[in-house]
Amino acid sequence: MELTLKGQTALITGASSGIGAGVAKALGAAGATVVVNHSSARSKDEAEAVLKEITDAGGAGMTAQCDVSKENEVINMFADVVARYGTVDILVNNAGLQRDAKFHEMTLDQWNTVISVNMTGQFLCAREAIREFLRRGPRPEVSAATGKIICMSSVHELIPWAGHVNYATSKGGIKMLMQSLAQEYGDRRIRVNSICPGAIQTPINRAAWETPQALNSLMTLIPYNRIGQPQDIGNLAVFLASDQSDYITGASIFIDGGMTVFEGFSDNG
Ligand code: NAP
Repeated sequence: MELTLKGQTALITGASSGIGAGVAKALGAAGATVVVNHSSARSKDEAEAVLKEITDAGGAGMTAQCDVSKENEVINMFADVVARYGTVDILVNNAGLQRDAKFHEMTLDQWNTVISVNMTGQFLCAREAIREFLRRGPRPEVSAATGKIICMSSVHELIPWAGHVNYATSKGGIKMLMQSLAQEYGDRRIRVNSICPGAIQTPINRAAWETPQALNSLMTLIPYNRIGQPQDIGNLAVFLASDQSDYITGASIFIDGGMTVFEGFSDNG
């Protein structure tokens, strides 16, 4: 099965860490020119280190600082990428964060921060990507689809999450954003899908895996009995960006070691 992304440019938001970094490396290894987005000057070194790994392995790309919740920054980032590489073919809408609190103690700032980055950020980046796909039109020499958008959702677009209502709400919203875009732009051959990870070992959920006790407790939720790695998500992102998945659009693909088959019911509930 050939999964080459040669001749295509992929922009990955939140690629300075965790899943985004894993996806950027996987897309770079598959031949895409990779744009490693990070939010601020604080994470520039991390983004540069991800890009260096990609170029050391023979890939190509650039870093791009942009807070995805800021409209002008997103518009400028896409303009910079198009000026440099001619177009964008693949968007991975990955940037995300948590601001956890009991719901009755949640501040408006905690709510707004999560919704702004996890949901509005995906809206702003998807809008610029679709504008670019429509402006540029088909490129059958590199892909059957005119453009591809991959939204990083979560098992929490399905599983409610007490203590994380802002986060679960943002991921539930991503499901409808993704499916409505797939419906609206399918006839333009723009494919839009979501990846829904379970527990992947990254800084966002360090508390869930950094001690043996925490990891053991996490394993009670995962039939496959291991924590996921960013490379697992990278592998799926390459498939969803490639023509091998050309008939997949509007889909939420769960990649969770079986978390969504509800392990708690394995012994009669
Ligand atoms: P992570 O290691 O904390 O990485 C988050 C990334 O998002 C960082 O690169 C961060 O960049 C970036 N980011 C945050 N705010 C941003 C902003 N305003 N603009 C641009 N980038 C921003 O977390 P992760 O686990 O890889 O999470 C990545 C995505 O996967 C998120 O959408 C998360 O909800 C989703 N997810 C993760 C898991 C899991 O188990 N890890 C499970 C399901 C879904 P800076 O450092 O530059 O801010």
